[in-house]
Amino acid sequence: MKQISTAELHEKHAHRRAIFFTKEGKVIVEKDTFLLPVATTLDRLGIPVQDAYHDEQVLIVQLNEGESLFDSSVNVISPREAFLLLPDQPERAEVLLRASHWIVAHGMLQFCSRCGASLEKVLETTEKKCTQCERSFFPKLSPAILVLIRRGEEILLARGAQHPPGMYSVLAGFIDLGEAAEQTVHREVREEVGLEVTNVNYFGSQSWPFPDSFMIAFTADYLRGEIKIDPSELEEARWFHRDELPLLPPPSTLSRRLIEDFLKRSASQS
Ligand SMILES: [Zn+2]
Repeated sequence: MKQISTAELHEKHAHRRAIFFTKEGKVIVEKDTFLLPVATTLDRLGIPVQDAYHDEQVLIVQLNEGESLFDSSVNVISPREAFLLLPDQPERAEVLLRASHWIVAHGMLQFCSRCGASLEKVLETTEKKCTQCERSFFPKLSPAILVLIRRGEEILLARGAQHPPGMYSVLAGFIDLGEAAEQTVHREVREEVGLEVTNVNYFGSQSWPFPDSFMIAFTADYLRGEIKIDPSELEEARWFHRDELPLLPPPSTLSRRLIEDFLKRSASQS
């Protein structure tokens, strides 16, 4: 990821499309796309550029004004909302995730956590280096697991206070210090719903930089126990039959892909 000057942006990249972020890190969307033509968008918005970065995959422009300064011709949304608009466009989604994560990381990595001096970018990478003690810093990733628990034709879904009303999803939890992801699955299931699971298998992964998660998804089979939720984590958890599922997470999420995969497999078995 290379930082470029405003002059360079105008001279060399004016013909390209870029992802435009506001000062606070929201994404500018116009006519259902976040990939906007550089020259015309800068001219029309008339807002100065704060920073610009590019690599082979993506051109990023961060503008020097907050959300409130944009007129109603553009839509200003969170990176998460922009991602959810792209259920069937994995390549575009990847570019958006990469740009969003960089904007978050760049905002967080301003000063050295050891000596307090300012950090500067290392060209062509996402690394930043302390100008005094030369310590290196990289964008943070916080790995977390997702797990779909099966019991015959049923799956365990849960909802926490952060879920929209009526929506249930698979269990999730951050990987703790020293843990392998499979150990996290067993621990989270035990802590959140009081169950034991078996046949824990890797399903897939997804960057989730809202602000810095990395999701690793597993399937597992119910082994034993009665549901007993941890009320500090969950409002409710229950078994749902495949034919009677509640409101589910949006299609571009890894949790939804886990559930859809279960439905496809259980349909082909019956
Ligand atoms: Zn330092």
